[in-house]
Amino acid sequence: MSYKLRCVHCGRTYEPNEVLYTCPVCGPRLGTLEVVYDTLPTETNFDLEHKGIWAFSDFLPVKKNHFEVPLLVGNTPLYEKKELAKEMGLANLYIKDDGRNPTASYKDRASALAIAKAKELGYDTVYCASTGNAASSLSGLAAASGIKSVIFVPKAAPQAKITQLLVYGATVIAVDGSYDDAFDLSLQVGEEFGWYCRNSAINPYLLEGKKTGAMEAAYQLDWNIPDVAMVSVGDGTVVSSIYKGFRDLKEAGITNKIPKIIGVQAEGANAVMRTFESGIYDKPQDMKASSMADSISVGKPRDVLKACKYVESSGGKFISVSDEEIGKAIVEMARKTGVFAEPAGATTYAGLKKISKELLGMSVVLFITGNGLKDINTVRSYVGQVHVVKPELQAAKEVLKDAGAI
Ligand SMILES: *Cc1c(COP(=O)(O)O)cnc(C)c1O
Ligand SMILES: [Zn+2]
Repeated sequence: MSYKLRCVHCGRTYEPNEVLYTCPVCGPRLGTLEVVYDTLPTETNFDLEHKGIWAFSDFLPVKKNHFEVPLLVGNTPLYEKKELAKEMGLANLYIKDDGRNPTASYKDRASALAIAKAKELGYDTVYCASTGNAASSLSGLAAASGIKSVIFVPKAAPQAKITQLLVYGATVIAVDGSYDDAFDLSLQVGEEFGWYCRNSAINPYLLEGKKTGAMEAAYQLDWNIPDVAMVSVGDGTVVSSIYKGFRDLKEAGITNKIPKIIGVQAEGANAVMRTFESGIYDKPQDMKASSMADSISVGKPRDVLKACKYVESSGGKFISVSDEEIGKAIVEMARKTGVFAEPAGATTYAGLKKISKELLGMSVVLFITGNGLKDINTVRSYVGQVHVVKPELQAAKEVLKDAGAI
């Protein structure tokens, strides 16, 4: 599709070949770019099942013969949870499980676009800084596509995520610092060596890949757009992408409504929420981040301006939840729905629990962004112990009785 890139801060527009990442006038923090299409398609049939996110390629900033990662990205399930909705007083509740992507997080939608662009522009190496998932996603999709990846993660990233990177063959640099430190270092190194950058917000195409999550949900709901869409927020790109996906469909005339978007942050890393509430979106309320939800433990959110503007236009807002609420939400959601999410994924569910009284009678879709197996250590203290027993029937009966199972 033919498109232009527009700065969310100053509104200048650029041709795709004029700029690579951000607005040269406003700089990388505020001058993130949004993709604006010359025309949007109007067809309503999408072959999600076979093509995943590429079913929506007419809504994406790629050429006709674009490069597709040879893995099925997207086409994740949307579950209708009638009972749970009733319990919470909602008209309906849908859970979109993006932990079911090839590398087990929502980030695959963005990495697929980054790799397609890297190939189109002739790069052989891609890089990113990441709390974990963008990295494992990029390295997995790069491996499938035969290009190299260099990854910068904070040293404290969960082991499962780091191991996933090494398994896929990425060069992994563990930065002795925070995600925000890793982000800044990666940009210096990447620029020096001329690699293609897959850092959140900096690269305008990532959001376009991510918006397919919203478009899929809309398609799976036969274009009956729910009243509210909720998702967890770190840098603010995913939440922006949910809005953009619904907005593009509305602008194309395929749907007639954009849900209220509610972004959920961890209390120890709620810079986007605080910026939103201050009302001055171009003065980000940066902080030192700390949360067990590592994927959203971001103190210097890189897509804060876009996230605030988009959420405001949707009529939504940002809320935050405590680590304790997140821990409990992982377990409760797994037990009530069978969907086991990593902390940042379950943050959305924790947010719903917190404000369900405000949403009485509404239909709600929750985007679950990452799989629980990504980080099993954090949730361990929220579940019980196993029952050890000798291999004897009587002993097993006693233990079962103690456990209250019989
Ligand atoms: C990256 C990520 C998010 C948040 O996305 P942002 O664009 O940083 O706001 C939420 N959940 C998971 C599992 C993630 O990996
Ligand atoms: Zn600008």
